Amino acid sequence: MNDCLFCKIIKGDIPSTKIYENEYVYAFLDIEPQAPFHAIIVPKTHISSADEINAQNSIYIAKIFEAVAEIAKAESLSDGYRVVNNCGKDGGQTVGHIHFHLLARRNLAWPPG
Ligand code: 5GP
Ligand code: ZN
Repeated sequence: MNDCLFCKIIKGDIPSTKIYENEYVYAFLDIEPQAPFHAIIVPKTHISSADEINAQNSIYIAKIFEAVAEIAKAESLSDGYRVVNNCGKDGGQTVGHIHFHLLARRNLAWPPG
């Protein structure tokens, strides 16, 4: 049994607001946005965290960053944006399916704290 929240979202078993999809990648709006634009981009295969990226699955990560560029153009994020991956406990990862936050439309503090 795959009990993964984002696998269920990809399959459509849990509803989401889709903003982008292709063979490798699914992207949807975050349910608790931390910026006026806050999307979550996930690979359509279960990779649990950045720790699990390897030579066999890294094509999915490349496809995620291709999707970032396409979404940024489609959403006119010409003032910039931030891509964030939280990994593990200290990284603040709460969902065990690797995902990248795409945050935009406000000035984002650095360092993030
Ligand atoms: P993490 O903290 O693991 O880096 O990020 C998980 C993100 O998933 C959080 O920003 C959280 O708001 C979002 N999230 C958790 N559950 C759901 C859900 O059911 N639907 C959507 N759209 N986002 C979710
Ligand atoms: Zn999953």
